[in-house]
Amino acid sequence: MFAFRIVPEIIFGCGVADRIGTEVKKIGAKKVLIVSDAGIGNAGLISKVEKFLHQEGISNETFTDVPPEPWVDVADEAGSLARECDLVLGLGGGSVMDIAKAAAVLAKNEGKASDYQGMNKVHAPGLPKIMMPTTAGTGSEVTFTSVLSNRPVGKGGINSPYLFPEMALLDPLLTLSMPPAITAATGMDALTHAIEAYTSQQANPMTDIFALKAIELISKNLPIAFNDGGNLTARENMLMGSLLGGIAIANAGVGATHALAYPLGGFYRVPHGISNALLLPYIMEFNYKSAEKKFAQIGKVMGGNSDNLSQENAALMAITAVRKLLHNVQIPAKIKKIGVEIKKYSLEEMAAAAMGVSRPLENNPRKLTSEDAIKIYKQAY
Ligand code: NAD
Repeated sequence: MFAFRIVPEIIFGCGVADRIGTEVKKIGAKKVLIVSDAGIGNAGLISKVEKFLHQEGISNETFTDVPPEPWVDVADEAGSLARECDLVLGLGGGSVMDIAKAAAVLAKNEGKASDYQGMNKVHAPGLPKIMMPTTAGTGSEVTFTSVLSNRPVGKGGINSPYLFPEMALLDPLLTLSMPPAITAATGMDALTHAIEAYTSQQANPMTDIFALKAIELISKNLPIAFNDGGNLTARENMLMGSLLGGIAIANAGVGATHALAYPLGGFYRVPHGISNALLLPYIMEFNYKSAEKKFAQIGKVMGGNSDNLSQENAALMAITAVRKLLHNVQIPAKIKKIGVEIKKYSLEEMAAAAMGVSRPLENNPRKLTSEDAIKIYKQAY
């Protein structure tokens, strides 16, 4: 038995951002809170969206104080502004969309964002919300999660069906301005989603279709988008890959890479995509024997030739392909190489925090203990 949930409306295509005014009007909203960040503003994307809203007589407030890996109290600030509006529009990467989704529910639920971190703690539906991703990406436009950083350290998600956006509007043109390093980090995040959803214990025949296609699209197109950011076909395929990966994780969940990546982001502020990318090959090495057939399939769609190989060697091709991809998009193989020194918080503290990220660990194809986590951090360090 399985259930499959998806946002009610997904609009995808080059130029669909121009429809934002008419889509908001259809929903009946008159004042929109645009949640975005400085990078998106500098890329000229906020003014573009404002223009389309104003053309339809829709007014807006704009909140741009969203840092990467945003703090939980940023959601509270955005939530206060959302109370004066009747729709929330997230225009940005995962950090922005997660704040937008949290703000929309805070507008209709009392208290602070931290009250709702956990599973199914949100009492009432929030304001309608439309997500327009500018990275490819987290897939947050189609998930029911808002990941927020706690102070002083740690990360926790608000998970509730009320966080599913009413609409995801995906325009590959919005991703063209991403510089190579952000293209690489966010693209590896999308690949991690797809691989972890495909090998999750919660995977089902529907999520497998989304996840496998995502792996294929991302592995083929990420190096092209990284080397030639203006290649629209590669950008389009990357955004499609991250969308499919997002749908897969919304239904099959993520795995141990995410559990071990959270402390890297939460304790050392390593960008989410980089944390995942650094840990992914080591977690795959740990996992592959528990899901050999699926790993062999991953190796195949990533371009490996498994003819005449044993299933185990075919599965190992997947890990080789991920390492090659990381090399091609210039993401180092070791944590130290990105300039992070594990000092203030020890590997043992990080492992303890990772063990608290329970759902991804339950989804993981192989049971992982805190000793395993320490070992994997050591290998990746
Ligand atoms: P991000 O949103 O933090 O953005 C990173 C940087 O990229 C920012 O400086 C931003 O300004 C810039 N940027 C984004 N789009 C751009 C564009 N088109 N042109 C130029 N610059 C651009 O990065 P992200 O990886 O998309 O999001 C990471 C966050 O998402 C983390 O907090 C992570 O935990 C969360 N996340 C959430 C989910 C979910 O389901 N809710 C899933 C995965 C990750």
